[in-house]
Amino acid sequence: MPENFYIHLPFCRSKCRYCAFPSIAVDTVPEKEYLAALVAEFKFRRRSLPGLAAPVSTLYFGGGTPSLFSPSFFSAIIDFFDQENGFSAVPELTLEANPADIHSEQVKGYLQAGINRISLGAQTFIPAGLRRLGRRHDAFDIYKAFTLLRKAGFGNISLDLIYAWPGQSLDDLLFDLNKTADLAPEHVSAYILSYEPGCAITKDLEAGKIVPVGEGLQLKMMRLLEDSLDKAGLCRYEVSNFSRSRRFQSQHNLAYWQLKDFVGLGAGACGGRRLRQDYGHWVERYCNISDPYLYMQHLIGSGCQQPESGRNSALWSLTETVDLGGAFTEALMMGLRLRRGVDLTRLRAEYGSVPVAAALAKAEALRKEKLVDFDQERFWITAEGLYLTDSIISRLV
Ligand code: SF4
Repeated sequence: MPENFYIHLPFCRSKCRYCAFPSIAVDTVPEKEYLAALVAEFKFRRRSLPGLAAPVSTLYFGGGTPSLFSPSFFSAIIDFFDQENGFSAVPELTLEANPADIHSEQVKGYLQAGINRISLGAQTFIPAGLRRLGRRHDAFDIYKAFTLLRKAGFGNISLDLIYAWPGQSLDDLLFDLNKTADLAPEHVSAYILSYEPGCAITKDLEAGKIVPVGEGLQLKMMRLLEDSLDKAGLCRYEVSNFSRSRRFQSQHNLAYWQLKDFVGLGAGACGGRRLRQDYGHWVERYCNISDPYLYMQHLIGSGCQQPESGRNSALWSLTETVDLGGAFTEALMMGLRLRRGVDLTRLRAEYGSVPVAAALAKAEALRKEKLVDFDQERFWITAEGLYLTDSIISRLV
């Protein structure tokens, strides 16, 4: 089976006010050391996860801010995977980028390295919103970066938006959606702002300095989002993700939502792999230590000279196992986020027909409310139920 790899690059120039991702603010990125640590982790994972040698079908550089790294860093990793595993016929190689970092030389370098998909963190085109969110780019940077990427030849660009930030009106969101339509990306990810513990914006909320967007307005925003993006030719295929056609759906994220095996490398990265039933559990999952300097220290020591280090992985990576029932619940929760729903045939093959029948029996009440539907092959949330996805899922599990 082809492999899906996620590589976490947890360095940023400054911390956004809403950010709960594992990342730290730095002036200089330790490229050479981090690359050595990633290679050391790959070798460790290969020893501990037998079969990790299939061609790579998706490789996703997330962060943090991957665009702080030079094109030669990505060339080195992609060449490494090419030698070690090779790539599938049409691999998807995504890089997350901050509009402030995009310059023409660098864009050409990314293309030459083999990156074929860019996820551009726009978030909003409104200056007051960018300030609220603590982004370090301005609206002009978004247009400039997008145009440079297109001119250089990137034919698969995803734009990230955040909505329902404090003070945002329906007209503000419409403005963002019109600007998005003008740029005509192949893919859009649009998430409601969430207030995560410890973030600067959450502290503002707790101190009463900002007023969150109420539920009624949030609902109107969700409807506006779907209508506007639909008119722009971008169809929802997951609760928060839209694409111009099936071809441009994020293959990497689909693997994640469908609970397929994936390998995460880097500080703060997680990975998961299904095991055979006779191992006594169903999924083995690991999450690496989030401090990149401790991660590098454990993987390579101080001088990039110890490729066999990292053996005592308990010091830098936590492993947990999920039993069959837990894995089934996760598969249902993730799969129902997709518009096409969960594949019942696959679910029966992987988890047995008993839990599937029990879940469908539980879903009967929701079906009567026209919030979900199912046939022999699929189980999905209806258009009416879409805006209640979280509560529907909580009633099912
Ligand atoms: S760029 Fe992304 S990872 Fe970095 S601080 Fe902002 S939201 Fe967090």
